[in-house]
Amino acid sequence: MKLTDIKGIGPKTEELMNKVGILTAEDLVRYYPAGYDAYTAPVPIGEVRPGAKCAVRGVIERGVTMRRFKKVTIVTTEIADQTGLIRLTWYNAPFIAGMLKRGSVWIFRGTAAERKGAIVIDHPEVLSEEKYALLTDTLVPIYSLTKGLSGKTIAKAVRAVLDTRPHFVHEFLPDALLHLHGLMEEEEAVRSIHFPENAGVFEQARRRLVFDEFFLFVLSVRMLKMHDEDARNGFPMRKTWELEEAVQALPFELTGAQKRVWREIEEALSSDRLMSRLVQGDVGSGKTVIAFLAMAACCVNGYQCAMMAPTEVLARQHYEKLMSFAGFFEEGTIRPVLLTGSTGKAERRTILSRLKCGDINAVVGTHALFQEGVGYRDLALVITDEQHRFGVRQREALSDKGRRPHTLVMSATPIPRTLGVIYYGDLDISVIDERPKRRLPIKNAVVDLTYREKALHFIDRQIEEGRQVYVICPMIDASEELVLSNVKEETAALRKELPSRRILMLHGRMTPKEKNAVMEEFAAGNGDILVSTTVIEVGIDVPNATVMLIENAERFGLAQLHQLRGRVGRGEHQSYCIFMAGQKSDQIEERLQILKESDDGFVIAEKDFEMRGPGDLLGIRQSGDAMFRIADITKDGELLKLAGETAAAVCEDDPSLASDLYRPLKNELENGPLSNERNIVL
Ligand code: ADP
Ligand code: MG
Repeated sequence: MKLTDIKGIGPKTEELMNKVGILTAEDLVRYYPAGYDAYTAPVPIGEVRPGAKCAVRGVIERGVTMRRFKKVTIVTTEIADQTGLIRLTWYNAPFIAGMLKRGSVWIFRGTAAERKGAIVIDHPEVLSEEKYALLTDTLVPIYSLTKGLSGKTIAKAVRAVLDTRPHFVHEFLPDALLHLHGLMEEEEAVRSIHFPENAGVFEQARRRLVFDEFFLFVLSVRMLKMHDEDARNGFPMRKTWELEEAVQALPFELTGAQKRVWREIEEALSSDRLMSRLVQGDVGSGKTVIAFLAMAACCVNGYQCAMMAPTEVLARQHYEKLMSFAGFFEEGTIRPVLLTGSTGKAERRTILSRLKCGDINAVVGTHALFQEGVGYRDLALVITDEQHRFGVRQREALSDKGRRPHTLVMSATPIPRTLGVIYYGDLDISVIDERPKRRLPIKNAVVDLTYREKALHFIDRQIEEGRQVYVICPMIDASEELVLSNVKEETAALRKELPSRRILMLHGRMTPKEKNAVMEEFAAGNGDILVSTTVIEVGIDVPNATVMLIENAERFGLAQLHQLRGRVGRGEHQSYCIFMAGQKSDQIEERLQILKESDDGFVIAEKDFEMRGPGDLLGIRQSGDAMFRIADITKDGELLKLAGETAAAVCEDDPSLASDLYRPLKNELENGPLSNERNIVL
């Protein structure tokens, strides 16, 4: 259904919605809130802390003052209760002065700050006691927005669809299953995730939607596996002395874990079954060299191999590393090439013909590797990043004359093995659980906003020494409801604060081409600071970058912070990671300290899970970058387990999902909005 078919949406709003990735009404109802604003009961004024969003109740005892400064009207008043006094200020809202009659009682809600030793709230919402009572304990959705698009517009449009089109969101699970596991119905879950009546309902809605994502994913993986079951190794490989020699020649000795994993892969490649394997290892555990060894095994055995990276920059970096790795072999053994979207037409044509005849045997690239027209002579191995697992159709597109290539998937997602078995159901798993000793461990600091000036000073000095810096923000754009650091404003602010520095900006809503250009610039050293959302998590390897400043660090999961931190500490210089919390709180401090104490992704993920109560699930998440919209494997382990068991039971019951009972489910798997984005095609 088209967006403009929704009441109240015209071409202008449609365009804005497209900008955040909402193209259809189906996308719209699945555009889950990034977080919620909870109208909690007012607190005593004396308990208000700077940085906290809160509501206070007060009598207007002395009236208000209104003055003009340049072109701005400023309204201020002070309210007090037995516990303290607080100053409230509004800019360009003269009507407020008329509302706040002396002696009247209001609830004021906003984010407190400290100015000149006093607690203030700027631009608080003003609500009557009656109105506030109605809102108390409700959760108001906060959407990730773009300039010109308000949360209210999205909420209204979602309501319009759900209210005027019954069964727009339909149930695809059998009743019996819903009852058995106490799952909320799909339509109610979608409605309640946007407009939860209370925290309890929100939990139920989230539970259903997380279940959906896991369940559909696990089920499609199972289907893949059935398809693969008796696939034979069409590219058997000998173990060769060339590889032993190359391992000896590397500038470092492989860690014990790398040696073990390499043996497992070598074994698999020479067995009589097709290999589908996951190599799981924390950031910095040294997965790349393992991938290269596997590629070398193909080349030495006379086959071709391909490695796909999520971004062009990363592809180029892998390619350059592969070129030098090729130097450990006799000349002409590994013949690499780079193929991406920006490879020129003529060059592309040459590359394609050389791939077809086998003249090139190791290709590194992006999605461009598997586009129409790319054919191989004998492609024996495809290595991908976790984001790019293949569905059956893609696998078939790759196979030549029925010989499907081996696949190797690299992942840094720290999930416990028991869950990994469910999540990566179709893959054998090799774990690199040891890390090369770093010469210079990253130095970590946990700070709050008061440290900002010092941090900037520090950053400036590092740049002076020739280093580069990442600044990470949780949001792309400013949002009315959430006072969080965002890429656009932060970039503008830094350009003012550090005018002589070259500041670049990167976020998930730029086109792949734009993103790529920015990353190239930064990697080439043509930028001092890169302000970015978490899109850089996988995208970039710049050894010269030594500082990462993460703003509103409390808004990220620890596992994610750990991944982000993996972007620094890659070169010869001492590196630093500054976790800056948006507000002061012991709890936040305690959580972030874990990152200071540990450098092990698994340990961190586990601790994070222990420490976070279900209430924290209300936290914001970045949409668009992740594999799932709402589920999070690092914290929804229980639901992943349930989804795994349920998928197993369903497959047992009806492996092809052909019965009437499972027809809606089959349809959802093949065509539903939850499955089509995930590269899994049945
Ligand atoms: P990741 O697992 O995150 O992909 P990389 O493969 O990029 O990690 O490796 C991180 C860094 O460690 C690279 O600079 C790589 O050359 C280096 N490295 C890999 N294995 C070893 C080792 N056994 N000893 C020392 N350094 C290593
Ligand atoms: Mg890597």
